[in-house]
Amino acid sequence: MSNYPKLHMIIDGEKVSGGGRNTFDVVNPATGETIGALPMAEAADLDRALEVAEKGFRIWRKSTPQERASVLQGAARLMMERKEDLARVATMEQGKPLAEARIEVMMNVGLFNFYAGEVSRLYGRELVRPEGTRSTIRLEPVGPVAAFAPWNFPIGNPGRKLGAPVAAGCSVIMKSAEETPASALGVLQCLLDAGLPKEVAQAVFGVPDDVSRHLLGSPIIRKLSFTGSTVVGKHLARLATENMQRTTMELGGHGPVLVFDDVDVERVLNTAVPGKYRNAGQVCVSPTRFIVQENVFEKFRDGFVERAKALKVGDGLAEDTQMGPMANPRRPEAIDAMIANAKEKGATLHTGGERIGNQGFFYAPSVLSEIPLDADIMNEEPFGPVALINPFRSEDDMIAEANRLPYGLAAYAWTEDYKRQQRLGAELEAGMVGINSHMIGGADAPFGGVKWSGHGSEDGPEGVRACMVTKAVHEG
Ligand code: NAD
Repeated sequence: MSNYPKLHMIIDGEKVSGGGRNTFDVVNPATGETIGALPMAEAADLDRALEVAEKGFRIWRKSTPQERASVLQGAARLMMERKEDLARVATMEQGKPLAEARIEVMMNVGLFNFYAGEVSRLYGRELVRPEGTRSTIRLEPVGPVAAFAPWNFPIGNPGRKLGAPVAAGCSVIMKSAEETPASALGVLQCLLDAGLPKEVAQAVFGVPDDVSRHLLGSPIIRKLSFTGSTVVGKHLARLATENMQRTTMELGGHGPVLVFDDVDVERVLNTAVPGKYRNAGQVCVSPTRFIVQENVFEKFRDGFVERAKALKVGDGLAEDTQMGPMANPRRPEAIDAMIANAKEKGATLHTGGERIGNQGFFYAPSVLSEIPLDADIMNEEPFGPVALINPFRSEDDMIAEANRLPYGLAAYAWTEDYKRQQRLGAELEAGMVGINSHMIGGADAPFGGVKWSGHGSEDGPEGVRACMVTKAVHEG
């Protein structure tokens, strides 16, 4: 297909492709057509990237805050200038509506500008000690980072994976998802064009398990940053123990949404329905389990179904599309199986539950209700356009259901009762809680989970600090 860029890796600033390397077919999920051939790294490519990353760390750890700020601000400016191109490419390879892809660009612009300010606030402290002696606590960049970014936010995930190490004075080797490589390369190119030394940030692709074993098997790598499923996260965390690499793990979720009977149901639906079907539900903080107080249950469910049916599903490149295809053929298969299992267990399917058309990976916005708690979909992250709506009687029951699963990424609650809002803020086991809002992020706010949803944060001051270590220096 025309106007999809030629694909390559970026190692030591060089665009690496060809040379008899294996390739991976990149597919447009709206059409099912192959749009690009991505070169896959061989062991020698990864060794070269590691050697360069070591050099890059020696260069960048000595950079001044002003140099780092200038690169981050420059990259933010370039992303603004290239916004339409970046967004179009992301939609071509991932499927989401253009409007959502544009928001991802703006998220990166905000994050890079925030980090540009944050770099001058990365200081330690001096302890009170007898005269003639001195004890200082220094913050230092951790070292070369291996960063793995998934396909669901093809622009935003690479922005997080690159932005924090660059701000902290680290080097980074990024392996973003093979399904969405051009978006990641577009973000990295903005940093390089803004003056980032070529040794500091590189992009490789390959067989994920081969690449992660190779990079984490090297003592050069001092930190692992991963976003993806809990299963893969646990596997990578185990690999990282061998070289005692520090980790930031941004894993799966199963977002509970508590809807109490004191709310304006229409107002909640105005937020909850677009929130559920954003990116066809392929969002780690997606609102998933709707835990609805029984007095408003029927009104909420019926309103949800009506709005889900009215959504315009289509190619993300069309400006009026509200929901695009799923990102790859694995997702509709997984959702079909989960919905079939829920129906077998006794759940009611109100709408959806089927693919749309015979090209690409489209799936109809779906709503299930009265789903038994032992259905797979009530326990595993669906990562798809399915709302799960169940009735509950009391606040205690609702909180117990919200905290039932081992996941703890995002949780949401809707209630007008001020005291209850406070209780929920304290009681919900999640890294991020939205009360009467589904806006739970921002460049200045930590983003991350607890329990099986991972540990550490991205974004905010915490995101940069996660790429730094503390050192105590005592002078006698
Ligand atoms: P997956 O679990 O195999 O892959 C998820 C991501 O991890 C992909 O980007 C993949 O390239 C990467 N990955 C897989 N194995 C890896 C390895 N050994 N080393 C390094 N990276 C590796 O499966 P998938 O089909 O792509 O996605 C399925 C599930 O992943 C979803 O159901 C969802 O639960 C989860 N997921 C979560 C996020 C998130 O934002 N937290 C994003 C994408 C996928």
